[in-house]
Amino acid sequence: FAVSVQNARLYAEQVDVADQLREVDRLKSEFLASMSHELRTPLNSIIGYAEVLLDGIDGPLTGDMEEDVAAIHESGRHLLSLVNDVLDLAKIEAGQMDLALERVRLYDVVEEVAATSRVLLKGKSVDLILDVPEDLPDVRADLLRLRQIVGNLLANAAKFTDEGTITLRAGIYERDPRWLLVSCADTGIGIASEKLQVIFDRFRQVDQSYSRRAGGTGLGLSITRQLIQMHGGVLWVDSVPGAGSTFYFTVPIAAPDEN
Ligand code: ADP
Repeated sequence: FAVSVQNARLYAEQVDVADQLREVDRLKSEFLASMSHELRTPLNSIIGYAEVLLDGIDGPLTGDMEEDVAAIHESGRHLLSLVNDVLDLAKIEAGQMDLALERVRLYDVVEEVAATSRVLLKGKSVDLILDVPEDLPDVRADLLRLRQIVGNLLANAAKFTDEGTITLRAGIYERDPRWLLVSCADTGIGIASEKLQVIFDRFRQVDQSYSRRAGGTGLGLSITRQLIQMHGGVLWVDSVPGAGSTFYFTVPIAAPDEN
């Protein structure tokens, strides 16, 4: 009897500790979410004023000044994207990321994202190929988050590809026609087979030296995967080192009567 009382007490203590850990984890996510939010305001102002200077609104800049302000602007933008990533991740982990699901035309999303991503390929001999039929059924997704998903995959492809092609393709998923299958294929450096899983972990980058040159935090794919999963879909990758990588994800087709 004494043993079972002791077991019950130990069990109750374990439950307590688990509860406390969950609470600590929640506080951490909450703290991160509010910090990132507070950081964005002054950061946007730094970026905005740098733009004002670069536009010459306050008067002409000398060549050196322009270079320096451009560096401030560039670093500000970089920091902002980092803060945005941390905010997204904290929101997801705190269970505060709510999707605004609506009927979305994937063709439009791909066109828009491709248009804004072309600058990433400036100066490289990489062709961006879009192979998305205009008459695909609509999907049910959060428009902004779907843009973010496609934009992330495209930005990664651009980052790790020096020549060749990047192809964005979409069609009905053969294995289950209730889904669209979207893929982003590049002819870049590829990913070693033993790294194919870890790249989806937070803060994981395969080749530190290349990633440092290309920039990035190692958060993008983790966020992208979680956003896709929140839509009910899956994200996976195929790659041949030295030949390129293809990322695939599924997204649900909207029911005919859904808005
Ligand atoms: P980041 O790009 O900020 O480093 P991600 O989470 O987006 O972080 O990607 C994690 C890692 O996965 C990258 O650092 C890179 O090593 C690898 N990776 C992602 N996309 C590609 C790609 N298209 N080709 C080769 N490697 C990639």
